Amino acid sequence: MDNFVEKIKAKFSKAVDGAEKYANIAVDKTSSLIDKAKISVAVNDAEKKIKDIMAEIGEYVYDNYGAGVEFPDEIGTKCAEIEALKQEIAELKKSVVCSHCGEYNPSENEYCGKCGEMLN
Ligand SMILES: [Zn+2]
Repeated sequence: MDNFVEKIKAKFSKAVDGAEKYANIAVDKTSSLIDKAKISVAVNDAEKKIKDIMAEIGEYVYDNYGAGVEFPDEIGTKCAEIEALKQEIAELKKSVVCSHCGEYNPSENEYCGKCGEMLN
């Protein structure tokens, strides 16, 4: 649990560092010449970076959900939604779900790509 919280904190501090760096670029540009296009590009880059890091945090939380870590109900609901969507995708792709670890495998696979158990 402590380790998990530390990793989340590290991801957030990475996001803050990135945002500060971009904020400095924006300030420098306004003080030298007003180049709105360059500022706009820097803002878009920073916003994209934030979204990427947010997605990274989300993936990390999702991967750790159900691994003995306690999460608020809202996160549990979102993780269940992801599971339902994965199931929907699997059905659309006619995937085979491993009875051992729950991983979705392409129907042509004989063994699970995650745990190596034989698929039925
Ligand atoms: Zn498996």
